[in-house]
Amino acid sequence: MSARPLGSVSIDLDNLWAYLKTHGDSEWRRHPSFLPSAVPRLLEIFGEHGLTTTVFVVGTDVVREDGAKAVNEIAAAGHEIANHSFGHEPWLHRYPRDRLEEELRLTDEAVVTAGAPHPLGFRGPGFSMSHDLVEVLCERGYTYDASTLPTWVGPLARAYHNRTAPRADNHGRDELFGGFARVLAPVHPYHWTTPGGSRLVELPVTTMPLLRTPIHGSYLLQLYGMSPKLARAYFRTALKLCLARGVAPSLLLHPTDVLGGTEAPGMEFFPGMATPGERKVAWLAWVLRTMREHFDIVGTGEYVRRTEIRRLRPSTRLAAGG
Ligand SMILES: [Zn+2]
Repeated sequence: MSARPLGSVSIDLDNLWAYLKTHGDSEWRRHPSFLPSAVPRLLEIFGEHGLTTTVFVVGTDVVREDGAKAVNEIAAAGHEIANHSFGHEPWLHRYPRDRLEEELRLTDEAVVTAGAPHPLGFRGPGFSMSHDLVEVLCERGYTYDASTLPTWVGPLARAYHNRTAPRADNHGRDELFGGFARVLAPVHPYHWTTPGGSRLVELPVTTMPLLRTPIHGSYLLQLYGMSPKLARAYFRTALKLCLARGVAPSLLLHPTDVLGGTEAPGMEFFPGMATPGERKVAWLAWVLRTMREHFDIVGTGEYVRRTEIRRLRPSTRLAAGG
């Protein structure tokens, strides 16, 4: 048995159309997809490293041919398929209960039809979640949620987004990327408990211990675009702080972490898209190698399965309809 602590890596398979939709670009309605470029590249990197991961997929893609093919190939390669909603709307926390149920059910069904097991994990688009969502996840047999990002940078990201997005069609964007409450959210995994007594593990996306700045792939790439040396020092510091504070890092990646600007037309507004795909792939390989020097890496579902999560969030008893 290895003496190294356990960490996790997951990928949100956000497609080109989903970015355009959040950005308010009507081109999203044609559902442009970069999955045929991104998925083989991601599978190759994880295959080369001998790693299995968790891929959170969007139902709207999975009911389409290229998305179903992606899910089938990802599952066949031994990775976990998890649910990242059906419509990928970052204002999902405002949905009424019946709509939440439908978002989960449609994606679950599409995943099973594509040949993967029924998902056990969920991550809300744009880190959105609600008390109703926790209850619906429990009812549907889910074992964990991974929708929280304990950072203070979220509100800044929202301010940036609102400044750059077109003004029309602004439903709910004022609440994108979580509220200020996220700043005080726990960095360690914990349990939600519903009024009915069901429990659901919450596995937060890791942020830098103490500083609470993000360390997910897109943020690291943004730093890498400014200075590769700075990005390496930043990530090494994050891992050292995780070790020192007993935080098991949960690293979040996206297809844009391996795609260049020409492979994602219309995404020029998105940070890091000026870096060519090959350089991103080499950078991601360095990130995974460096993380493995200190941690054994598994997918998020495997992490939850292997770890006994004892912490209970103090304010976790959800009020009905709260
Ligand atoms: Zn997403």
